[in-house]
Amino acid sequence: MHNVLFWFRNDLRLHDNEALVKAMEMGKVLPAFIIDPVEFKKTKYGFKRKGAFRVAFMLETLADLKRNLQNRGSDLIIKIGRTEDELLKLITQYNISTLVTSKEVTQEETTMEYEISTRLKPLNVEMEIFWGATLYHVRDLPFQLKFLPDVFTEFRTKIEQITIVRSLFDTPEIIDTVENIEFSKVPTLSEIGFQESLGDLTFPGGESHALARLNYYIWESNSIEHYKETRNELIGNNFSSRLSSYLSLGAISPRKIYWEIKKYEAEIIANDSTYWLIFELLWRDYFHFISLKYGIRIFKRSGIRHLMNKKWRKNRSDFERWMKGETGVPFIDANMRELNATGYMSNRGRQVVASFFAKDLNLEWWWGAMYFESQLIDYDVCSNWCNWNYIAGIGNDPRKDRYFNILKQAYDYDPDAIYTKFWLPELNKLSSTEVHEIGLQSEESLADKDVVLGNNYPVSLFPFDKWKK
Ligand SMILES: Cc1cc2nc3c(=O)[nH]c(=O)nc-3n(C[C@H](O)[C@H](O)[C@H](O)COP(=O)(O)OP(=O)(O)OC[C@H]3O[C@@H](n4cnc5c(N)ncnc54)[C@H](O)[C@@H]3O)c2cc1C
Repeated sequence: MHNVLFWFRNDLRLHDNEALVKAMEMGKVLPAFIIDPVEFKKTKYGFKRKGAFRVAFMLETLADLKRNLQNRGSDLIIKIGRTEDELLKLITQYNISTLVTSKEVTQEETTMEYEISTRLKPLNVEMEIFWGATLYHVRDLPFQLKFLPDVFTEFRTKIEQITIVRSLFDTPEIIDTVENIEFSKVPTLSEIGFQESLGDLTFPGGESHALARLNYYIWESNSIEHYKETRNELIGNNFSSRLSSYLSLGAISPRKIYWEIKKYEAEIIANDSTYWLIFELLWRDYFHFISLKYGIRIFKRSGIRHLMNKKWRKNRSDFERWMKGETGVPFIDANMRELNATGYMSNRGRQVVASFFAKDLNLEWWWGAMYFESQLIDYDVCSNWCNWNYIAGIGNDPRKDRYFNILKQAYDYDPDAIYTKFWLPELNKLSSTEVHEIGLQSEESLADKDVVLGNNYPVSLFPFDKWKK
């Protein structure tokens, strides 16, 4: 019987995990996860590449995975160190003949796959990689990747007409595991160098919680029935599915979500909202495939469209103010403060703060993307960088002049300024108009309501009257 190292990456689940199923067919499995400190390094902008919320969520996900493996006669070995080195050590120590893992598509991850496979060759160890992150399997695409349409609607129409979502892989009941393993415990945040104490996360990490959330969102609360109408809201936990963080670590499979929606449509109701959640999952797929098609270009200043002549401002102080939620534009600051306090921001909020950053402030867009990478609990390399490309106008948005008027967005999505005031309590006494148009109010009228610009709320970085034209 062969010993197979199963290297968990962004596929931290037992359900619908093709790579794991294939590993089990090959021999006795050693389930492993490597925590690589390189990911926690500080960027030159003062924040860590992977911030505390992301790491806390990952640790909870690992703890849940470990419990689920233990319930199936197995366990999870967790090593802290350089990924390639730790995998190589495990391979030697446990006499491994094959390394199995799930496929990633972006530069650093694929370079790592290549390096590992190169180091395995002289050891005569095989490496097998399986696709598992998207709703539609890459092999089922109705075109070669180089012909992937650059416009989402074209992609969606083609794929919906031709391609079928594959069925789910069963969750294993028992996992035949390599013997005599020294299994390790999941470290705490502080054990891996984080001083932050975050309290409870809004949604706890892990496959079990992911499946419970799916069940709640679809079956218990029927929230899915109104998803299309609520998805642009800002307050509460149920206006959207909140499955993104689970998807980002692979704690839930997009196919699982899809087939659950299909069941709901067959048994309860099929409407625009039930379809729209699948539609959004298609955006996720699309950005995954776009990342595969364009490779390193999604991270470049010139973006997918290769716009070399576009200039961006490198103003560190404006960047700092945006990060802290101190731009002096209340709707922007409220969203940024939510991000900093919870690790999450709604889709509407992300579009607005990213557009403000790239289009109004004209700041180096990838700084913003890097900050999101650090902070977002649901950070997904393809979704984040491709959405930033799109909003900054250097990605695959067919409308080249798309522009979000921040004032209009504030009135459309937070008409009574309830959301904005929640995150900016210093503006509580102001009316909704005074909040949203704070830069157009007189000093005296603000002072009457205890607001002094430049003192307890910042002077705006951007002239409000530009949004009034
Ligand atoms: C600048 C910017 C950066 C973003 N960065 C990320 C990121 O790092 N990780 C991430 O998962 N999403 C990202 N998004 C997309 C979107 O904002 C989040 O997926 C969504 O807000 C997550 O909340 P939810 O799960 O409740 O979404 P729902 O509205 O319930 O949507 C269901 C699922 O569809 C997918 N989805 C929805 N909208 C998008 C979209 N625009 N692009 C790709 N997938 C989508 C997500 O997987 C989401 O979980 C970004 C959007 C913008 C504008």
